[in-house]
Amino acid sequence: MRQAEMAPDRLLKEGARQENVLLDVQGLTKHFPVKGSLDAFNRNRPSVKAVSNVSFQLFEGETFGLVGESGCGKSTTGRTLMRLIEPTEGKAIYRGKNIFEQSSKELRKTREEIQMVFQDPYSSLNPRKRIGSILQEPLIIHSIGKRNEHTDRVMDIMQKVGLLPEQYYRFPHEFSGGQRQRIGLARALIANPKLVICDEPVSALDVSIQSQIINLLKRMQGEFNLTYLFVAHDISVVRHISDRIGVMYLGNMVEVAPTDSLIQNPLHPYTKALLSAVPIPNPRIKRERIALKGEIPSPLNPPAGCVFHTRCPFATDRCKQEVPESREMAPGHTVACHLYD
Ligand code: SF4
Repeated sequence: MRQAEMAPDRLLKEGARQENVLLDVQGLTKHFPVKGSLDAFNRNRPSVKAVSNVSFQLFEGETFGLVGESGCGKSTTGRTLMRLIEPTEGKAIYRGKNIFEQSSKELRKTREEIQMVFQDPYSSLNPRKRIGSILQEPLIIHSIGKRNEHTDRVMDIMQKVGLLPEQYYRFPHEFSGGQRQRIGLARALIANPKLVICDEPVSALDVSIQSQIINLLKRMQGEFNLTYLFVAHDISVVRHISDRIGVMYLGNMVEVAPTDSLIQNPLHPYTKALLSAVPIPNPRIKRERIALKGEIPSPLNPPAGCVFHTRCPFATDRCKQEVPESREMAPGHTVACHLYD
């Protein structure tokens, strides 16, 4: 779609978004050195290339979905932005400051504004503490409000995420998976954040519960004016909540686009393959399934050139040698593939 073909209101929205960048990720790289390497001088020490030179922006109030197969680096990207893992290279500019260069004092303030929801909240909930006490923790850590107001704030957030007041005194093991995810969301929201990184928040839940949590996330986004980075491996889930989607493969961002543009006109062969695997709820519509050959290569030794060339049906000799640059093919729709040079 060319600029001239875009609806005027869409153009306005795109323009307004450009001015409201909340987080600007530039060249994020995370390599994990392999322990026990024999290279005593640390030269050429083997490393797992989890994330390589990934760049994207988050605009205020949007949901940016990060999708790709397990092991593609999307969760590492999210965790690195919180500095739960230290990056190898790159910048993450949040409100004008590089998160990766912040002191522990500055980082504490940033972490008040950037919260995280995990795939399995149970493992991050202290089994010996009651829910009321768990939900008060962020208020205590970040010195938010007066102590005598904390119970009311906890009750308020519990009600907003669909938990009952009497559940305040229960322990984590007394809740179902869906309820635990509500607790995880309540714990993220009680500090009144600006950005929430949702790391596979519905992947461990039954399909019926998944839609409840997705709807809850959407409702909370409107109520708290939140920006989401939504990480998931299932593109059919990501498309339902995201305004824009970034597709990752083997630590690389291969395509970024507004959701409609990506779904209707996927450009990268990997995105096309991912979408071809999504079932269509209409038996009359047939879609050709693109089966990818082989397994994902090891991130310890990713292929040279385009990292997708070992599985791509369109790979040429050039793809085996040259890393494709990311190009903008339509407003906000970028792809890294030699087919579009
Ligand atoms: Fe396939 Fe080549 Fe494009 Fe990579 S650069 S996705 S190998 S056509």
